[in-house]
Amino acid sequence: MGPTASGDTDPAAVRAWARHLGRACDPTTLRRELAAGSLPTAAQAAAARAGDRTAVEVDGDALTHERLDAVAGRAAARLRGRGVARGDAVVLVAGTSLAFVVAYLAVLRLGATVVPLDPAQPVAARDRVAGLARARLVLDEPALRDLLEGAADEPDPVPVGDEPLPGDVAVLAFTSGTTDAPKGVPITHANLLASARAAMAAWRWADDDVLVHALPLFHQHGLGGLHMTLIAGTTARIASRFDPDRLLATGGTVLFAVPAIWARLVDHPRTGALRSLRLAVSGSAPLSAALSDRVAAAIGQVPLERYGLTESGLDVSNPYDGPRVAGTVGFPLPGIELRLGDQDEIQLRGPQVISGYLAGAAPEAFLPDGWFRTGDLGRLDDEGRLTIVGRLKELIITGGYNVVPREVEVVLEEQPGVVEVAVAGLPSERWGEEVTAFVVPGDQPPDEDALLTAAREQLVGYKVPKSVRFVDALPRNAMGKIVRTALGTQEHP
Ligand code: AMP
Repeated sequence: MGPTASGDTDPAAVRAWARHLGRACDPTTLRRELAAGSLPTAAQAAAARAGDRTAVEVDGDALTHERLDAVAGRAAARLRGRGVARGDAVVLVAGTSLAFVVAYLAVLRLGATVVPLDPAQPVAARDRVAGLARARLVLDEPALRDLLEGAADEPDPVPVGDEPLPGDVAVLAFTSGTTDAPKGVPITHANLLASARAAMAAWRWADDDVLVHALPLFHQHGLGGLHMTLIAGTTARIASRFDPDRLLATGGTVLFAVPAIWARLVDHPRTGALRSLRLAVSGSAPLSAALSDRVAAAIGQVPLERYGLTESGLDVSNPYDGPRVAGTVGFPLPGIELRLGDQDEIQLRGPQVISGYLAGAAPEAFLPDGWFRTGDLGRLDDEGRLTIVGRLKELIITGGYNVVPREVEVVLEEQPGVVEVAVAGLPSERWGEEVTAFVVPGDQPPDEDALLTAAREQLVGYKVPKSVRFVDALPRNAMGKIVRTALGTQEHP
């Protein structure tokens, strides 16, 4: 085991929280405050304060906090009429739209659970998940339109009540499954609220903040931004799909993006528009130090990289005020304790973290005393700052040695002519697995020998790729994460 928590709370984590919060804090009280209430109660309290401020704007269509609250109440009445009750699961499988946001809040107001799904996935996969979730209802695009039209005629909106309770499941998410089959992740209201509130405190969320993002709402990254907006009574301008021109023309104070989006924005002739941001955030996948530096040069601030998982919300962040160190993800957010377990696997504990998978799947991920095994590998520096070094499941075992792909990727990413790199182990009779680099070349492609020479200079022999394959693009999912299982199935250009 690496550094561990002693007693109830890790003192290093508490120091980090105090740094984020800008004040000392009592861990027990803080955890209770972070997790109190439900998303509907928190959103309604904000609506009462924020009144006619725009809550959400999707591709230019907007609703104020007050209107959103009212429409969600009527949509909830409509859903109740269709038999949805507390504890039911409702699949929401639609692109980002205001209707999505209304339906999301309506389901939650009934104390029911939203199962958000990527609308691009095949119908068979959607049906399988709906079955696993025992869904009462599936809301796809046409059903959403009907819901909203019908809601307009509902005479008795459902008021926000004492339920749902903090421990009720708000969202049943399914993991992106880039390394194995998707698992159901039951996220409670307490989990969602703790995640949003801790990040908002750390990032100094202000009443006049305007969040901009083009992330799908079926994933926790995009949804998390919506939660912050709803409970803070601020404004979110969300694009239903990423278009650099449009995103750069959307004014705002905070931008959430994934590295794949940053890579597109940084090369755009109008990136300078982002200089007016108060905060530029990156997450969901590793932001290379090189890309971080380029973003910093283009927009005048080091992007704030943060780390989290569907299972645990937002957990670790570079400091808002302190130095943001490229290539690292920073310190635990308020409420989160972090330790390194076997093989330096990152383990987390706190009100943000779920207590188990749907139907008790993968019980080995949950340790006694509330610790969750993330499957990610990390390194802590002397100050307690975390660097993600890879994923346990992505470890390559070559000739009996373990290789963390990210360590090799970092070396190759720095070489001239390299745009992106993913390293994976391909089956090999001789080595078991062979370290193989998949490289997206730039306009002046690097030469394989030069890459291997650089790798030899910086890495021990068994970590040096046995071969380099040049590819047009890396296989990625909707969140910009590399789909490791698809590497090696592509052809060279
Ligand atoms: P998801 O559950 O889809 O949000 O995926 C969570 C996974 O994304 C984590 O387990 C990490 O492997 C990865 N991830 C998220 N944020 C970062 C980050 N800042 N750097 C590296 N990996 C990240």
